[in-house]
Amino acid sequence: MNTFFLEFDDPLFGIIIFFLLIFVITFFSYWYNRFKKKEDYRHLDKFLKQFHSLPSQDELKVFITKGELSEKSWLLLANAYAKSGNYEKSIEIYSELLKVGDKANYRDTLFLLGKTYFRAGFLERARQIFLEILKANPRTPQALNYLLLVYEQMRDYKQAIEILEPLGELKKDITTESAYLNALLILNSLKLSPEAKVYELLEIYKKNNQLAYLIFEYIFRVNPKVAWENFDVSKSELLVDILWSANKKDLNFDIIMQNGYLRELYTAKGYIKEATKSSVFELDVLINLDSKANATLGFEYICSSCKVVFPFAFHRCSNCHAIDTSRAELSIVKDYHKDFSEENNSFQ
Ligand SMILES: [Zn+2]
Repeated sequence: MNTFFLEFDDPLFGIIIFFLLIFVITFFSYWYNRFKKKEDYRHLDKFLKQFHSLPSQDELKVFITKGELSEKSWLLLANAYAKSGNYEKSIEIYSELLKVGDKANYRDTLFLLGKTYFRAGFLERARQIFLEILKANPRTPQALNYLLLVYEQMRDYKQAIEILEPLGELKKDITTESAYLNALLILNSLKLSPEAKVYELLEIYKKNNQLAYLIFEYIFRVNPKVAWENFDVSKSELLVDILWSANKKDLNFDIIMQNGYLRELYTAKGYIKEATKSSVFELDVLINLDSKANATLGFEYICSSCKVVFPFAFHRCSNCHAIDTSRAELSIVKDYHKDFSEENNSFQ
């Protein structure tokens, strides 16, 4: 029996105890590490969770009044919120800063709040803010500019035109703004007939030689005959999308035949065969395709001032607010209209 039991002084007993200790230590160290890793993840999750939701208005109030961040940091944060489209948070920060911030920055913060209201589409609030700035500081061109934009968005063109006077007194060039707002006033008039609008718009165009797209887009739609008679062919590239989609029966081929660009444009369209090539790549491809492929021109619009691209033509850039800076960018696209008309013909 004794052979099954080890004596304490047996060297084998020491070795067994040694290996047992190693096993116990390894076992505990393994589980401890696993537990620690899990805790780390939990901590990281907890840390990241606070960024999933934005601070509430009350939290923001506490943060700002505590003064742990400088006013400049808050302004940068509000600007970042506005840029990412979170106008609500941006407005909350500006509103709190106006209550507790440095009074020396009051007007600037108020202006930024007005701008954010404008970008968010709260036009009436923006209007009140810019009026408040101008009440205390009437010679603030930035506030006047934005007040003009607010009235324009509100379609109150008469009020917008009134803003031009103080802007002119501040030595700002208001020629384009004046022509543009007067053209909008005519276009949106309920009293004027379309014919009267055409002649009043032509007056504005002849006086300034600006706003060709805004004015001729309307005249080509309402009275193509008058449009061709008064059209300055040097502006053809500017109005390429309007000319491209004009009805064949409304075209004045006497004028078209006298201008190289128009000959190329309408050869590419397939209405005439008066050009064999073009220096404009897209027109050159379409001329050489000779209507054999199902292709047409596609348009995008780039602002010549800030270079932002838009899918639709615009008269005032919504990014930089410049007027008459829309330039059409051509591309060759599939002609869905041709597809559709061919499908319809096959049923006949
Ligand atoms: Zn622009």
